[in-house]
Amino acid sequence: MDIKSFNLFKDKCFINGEWIKAISGEEISVNNPATLKEIGTVPKCGKDETKQAIEAANASWPEWRSKSAKERSTIMKKWFDLIMSNKEELAQMMTIEQGKPLNEARGEIVYGASFIEWFAEEAKRIYGDTIPDPLIDRRILVLKQPVGVVASITPWNFPNAMITRKCAPALAVGCPVVIKPASQTPYSALALAMLAEQAGFPKGTLNVITGKASEIGEELATNPTVRKLSFTGSTEIGKVLMAKCAGTVKKVSMELGGHAPFIVFDDANIDDAVIGAIQSKFRNTGQTCVCANRIYAQSGIYEEFCQKFVKAASELKVGDGLHEETTSGPMIDEQSLEKVEEHVQDAVQLGAKVAIGGSKHSLGLNFFQPTILTDVTPEAKITSEETFGPVAPVYKFKDENEVIELANNSPYGLASYFYSRDIGRIWRVSEALEYGMVGVNTGLTSKAEAPFGGIKESGLGREGSKYGVDDFLEVKYVNMCGLDK
Ligand code: NAP
Repeated sequence: MDIKSFNLFKDKCFINGEWIKAISGEEISVNNPATLKEIGTVPKCGKDETKQAIEAANASWPEWRSKSAKERSTIMKKWFDLIMSNKEELAQMMTIEQGKPLNEARGEIVYGASFIEWFAEEAKRIYGDTIPDPLIDRRILVLKQPVGVVASITPWNFPNAMITRKCAPALAVGCPVVIKPASQTPYSALALAMLAEQAGFPKGTLNVITGKASEIGEELATNPTVRKLSFTGSTEIGKVLMAKCAGTVKKVSMELGGHAPFIVFDDANIDDAVIGAIQSKFRNTGQTCVCANRIYAQSGIYEEFCQKFVKAASELKVGDGLHEETTSGPMIDEQSLEKVEEHVQDAVQLGAKVAIGGSKHSLGLNFFQPTILTDVTPEAKITSEETFGPVAPVYKFKDENEVIELANNSPYGLASYFYSRDIGRIWRVSEALEYGMVGVNTGLTSKAEAPFGGIKESGLGREGSKYGVDDFLEVKYVNMCGLDK
């Protein structure tokens, strides 16, 4: 399947309503991770084009923010409809550039679009406040206003949804956006821009720029016209960007790395826990920030859980995501594959047993076998570092207090999961886990209606839900005085 033959294929950047090349004429190559073959190129833009995009966004701001919430909502709903009616093509493009199985790509398109639909509605409900003033002739009003130009930098693992989850609330409340997608998956972003253009966003309201991450990132983080930077990616780069944003005191949202504990208590429904563990660990070939990284099974059900988990993992079909039967695609690149290999070898050297998988898949290239390790020791790298691949380490624990301590022993605090049928335990453990999200008897928690985000070194801010607009709004206090004169 040639991505260039798709109607939504664009290999230029979208700035101020124009499709442009890099000023230097330079390009970067984009590969299919399942075949390692080049599928196309995109412009290698830098500082100057980023400045242009920021200026275009800023110039569009007065028109965009002065539209009523209902008018903005109408354009956003059109964007949503266009995405949904092009779902299959967008999903195929995503699989070609990112590798995930087609069914997962279809799911991501629907999930990504759901943020546009949700925030198109939510923006109509940006309520202010009135507060009684202690003096009789005065009133206190609270207004909520769009923050201004928003920069958004996104990763390759969800090439569509990580963009809509940021841009939908920003656009809905009246902020223009400059998007810098991951260099490995730019076509999903450019296709979204093409559909946004068709939906009728005024020029400059939504811009997509591809190219040199450090140069584009530097400009987005330091340019005073950008009032908010929303980043999803590694904790390492997130920290660099936060420090750069300090210079102009920008608002920042950071959706960073995770190291999710997944706990199965003795009283859990084991079959449900196995389904949840497979979904949470192996979806997107283990390349999600909310993937289970440490699976804790209580001693009474440890053997049964491991045996059923291994059986379920043996049924996963590794292959090119474009084949309908594939349930596990390739890793994004060789470097990611090497990290997975390193984590497995290190854990095994320290005493872990390979219950299934453990090495590269016979398909070669970027394919790795779905892997389960048992009897993993706390010293193993996999116990503390994010693997971002299809490897599930399983640990045995004795009681609730012990597992809560183990689960919380991480600088990360994004997603966590546990399985139990004891209502007292469900409350206790939900409250004790130091994570931004807790899935109880489920391995999947993300949805437009709920606040997604982490604590500790997993980030700042929330995306999705009624809370998802807050990061794109300023609170203004107006004191009206002299009202009785
Ligand atoms: P990454 O290396 O941090 O890259 C993310 C984005 O940042 C890409 O667009 C990348 O551009 C850009 N970037 C890289 N260096 C930069 C710099 N110096 N200045 C500005 N931008 C820069 O992360 P990744 O490997 O793509 O994604 C995996 C990580 O994202 C994992 O840690 C995962 O947990 C996390 N993640 C978190 C969430 C969440 O919601 N919390 C969701 C998904 C993923 P290039 O592609 O051009 O290098």
